[in-house]
Amino acid sequence: MTTFSLDPGPDQTAVRDWLHGFAADVIRPAAAEWDEREETPWPIIQEAAKLGIYSLDFYAQQFFDPSGVGIPIAMEELFWGDAGIGLAITGTTLAAVAVLANGTDEQIGTWAPQMFGTPEDVKVAAFCSSEPDAGSDVSALRTRAVYDQAKDEWVLNGTKTWATNGGIAHVHVVVATVDPELGSRGQASFVVPPGTKGLSQGQKFKKHGIRASHTAEVVLDGVRVPGHCLLGGKEKLDARLARAREGTKGGGKNAAMATFEASRPAVGAQAIGIARAAYEVALDYARTRVQFGRPIIENQGVAFQLADMKTRIDAARLLVWRASWMAVNNRPFTSAEGSMSKLYAGETARFVTAQAMQILGGNGFTREYPVERMHRDSAIYTVFEGTSEIQRLVIARAISGAPIR
Ligand SMILES: Cc1cc2nc3c(=O)[nH]c(=O)nc-3n(C[C@H](O)[C@H](O)[C@H](O)COP(=O)(O)OP(=O)(O)OC[C@H]3O[C@@H](n4cnc5c(N)ncnc54)[C@H](O)[C@@H]3O)c2cc1C
Repeated sequence: MTTFSLDPGPDQTAVRDWLHGFAADVIRPAAAEWDEREETPWPIIQEAAKLGIYSLDFYAQQFFDPSGVGIPIAMEELFWGDAGIGLAITGTTLAAVAVLANGTDEQIGTWAPQMFGTPEDVKVAAFCSSEPDAGSDVSALRTRAVYDQAKDEWVLNGTKTWATNGGIAHVHVVVATVDPELGSRGQASFVVPPGTKGLSQGQKFKKHGIRASHTAEVVLDGVRVPGHCLLGGKEKLDARLARAREGTKGGGKNAAMATFEASRPAVGAQAIGIARAAYEVALDYARTRVQFGRPIIENQGVAFQLADMKTRIDAARLLVWRASWMAVNNRPFTSAEGSMSKLYAGETARFVTAQAMQILGGNGFTREYPVERMHRDSAIYTVFEGTSEIQRLVIARAISGAPIR
C-alpha cells in the first residue's frame, strides 16, 4: 500500500506532461472536425497507438502506478484535449476492465491485447450491458445466455443498446442472464470473439455530445461462443449460482456492477478534463474581453464565477484521486467514495461548462469557440456509468445501510 499523496511524483508528472502535449497538439486541433463528422477518429487512435498511448501496456502501467492516480491523470489530460476523441481513444478500456475484473489469467492474456490490436492495425472493443428496458436497473437485463452442453457453447440472444464502439468493435463483452429468476445474481459476462456470426450493429445514435465516439445498438441473434468465452469459467459461475439459489451471502457479485464500480473514478477524471478545459478558455476570455472600458474579469460578478469554477474543479479532482487511490490499494468503499467522485465530477463539468458559456457571451453560443462543444460533451457525465440519481442512491445506501429506493 502507498501513502496517499497529492504529489504525483516525477514519473506521473512526466506522463502527464507527455499526454498534455498529445492532447494540445493532436487532439484539440482535430476536435471540432470530428465532432461535426460524428465518426470514429481512426487516424487519431492510430497516432495514439504509434506513440504508445493507445495500448494495453499503457493503461496497465497507469493502473498499477504506485501513486494510485495514474489513470485519473491520464484521463484528465486526454479529455482536456477533447471528450469525444478522448472517449474514442479510451472507450476500449471499459471492455478491458470487464475482462480484467471477471476473467481468468488465460482469458485476460487472450482477449485484452486483441481489444487494442497493433499500431499498424488498431482495433477497439465494446462493453455491452445496457438494454432498452434495462438502463439504471441492470438487474432487468433480458439478453439470455443458454449453455449447449453437447457442443460446450453458449448461445446468446437479445438486444443491447448504447454500446460505446458497439458493432465496430473487434471484441465485444456482453453481459447476459443465465438464470433470470436470480436477477442480477444470475448474470455473467461473455466475450464475443471477432467475426462471430449473429452479432450485428443496430441503429447508430446521433448524439448531443461526445459525437466522435461511436454509440450503437448491438443485436445478438443466436450468437454461439465457445465455453471458454464465459468470463471466469463455468465452475466459478456454477458455484456462484448455487450460492445465489441457496440465498447464501457472497453469491451476488454482479458482473456489470463490479465493472462500473472499478471505472467510476476514471469517468470522473474525464469530466474534470472537460471542466478544466472550459474554465481555461473562460479565464482567458474574461481577461481579454473589454466592456465598459475594462476587462470583464474586473467585475466581481464574473471573477466570482471563475473562483467557483476553479474551486469546484479542484474539489472534484481531490474526490477522484482519493477514490482512485482507494481502488488501487484495495480499500473498501464504505461510503461509496467511487460513486461520490463520479457524481461530483459529473455535476461539476455541467456547472463549469455552463458558466464558461455565460462568460463568453454570444461567442459562447457559437461553434467558433470550443465551450459550446464542451458544454454539450459534459451532459453525458450525469448520465452514463450510472446517472447522478443512481450515484446518490448508491451513496445514500452505503452511508445509511437502509434499503433506500
Ligand atoms: C453516449 C452513451 C454511451 C454509453 N455507453 C455505454 C456502454 O458502453 N455500455 C453500456 O452498457 N451502456 C452504455 N451507456 C448506457 C448508460 O450507462 C445508460 O444510459 C445509463 O445507465 C442510464 O440508463 P437509461 O438511459 O436507460 O436511463 P433510465 O435508467 O431509464 O433513467 C431515466 C431517468 O430516471 C432516473 N432514475 C432511474 N431509476 C431511478 C431511481 N431508482 N431513483 C431515482 N432516479 C432514477 C435516472 O437517473 C434518469 O434521470 C451509454 C449511454 C450513452 C448515452
